[in-house]
Amino acid sequence: MKQFAIRRFYSYFETNSEEIENCSFDEKLTAFDNELEKLLERYDLKLLNIDTRFIPQKKMSATKCEQCDNLMVNRDKNPARFNKEDLWIDLDSDYNGIVWDGGTFEGKDLCMECLPLEHRWGYFS
Ligand SMILES: [Zn+2]
Repeated sequence: MKQFAIRRFYSYFETNSEEIENCSFDEKLTAFDNELEKLLERYDLKLLNIDTRFIPQKKMSATKCEQCDNLMVNRDKNPARFNKEDLWIDLDSDYNGIVWDGGTFEGKDLCMECLPLEHRWGYFS
């Protein structure tokens, strides 16, 4: 039985509204995309799609875990996380673990893996 194996990967960089409006990283990303396409072809993979989505850090309480650098939504500050936002649903920790749940513990933003187990948003809670 023939099948298509669809692969995707995620990456990120930090930017700000000014850089987005000025398209200051477009040239670098276009060069990267071209190299990526050539690399994939060397391994008989075909590039299907690349998209870039922006997550407003303050509005979504999105940040990096202060202990391990996982991307996370601080659920203590944003209990709704990505729910009902189709644009970001595949990033949610329930699906792919691209952006983890997290919370505040002893003044630090920590992802669900770094929070103590007894914390509301700790991994096994
Ligand atoms: Zn962490």
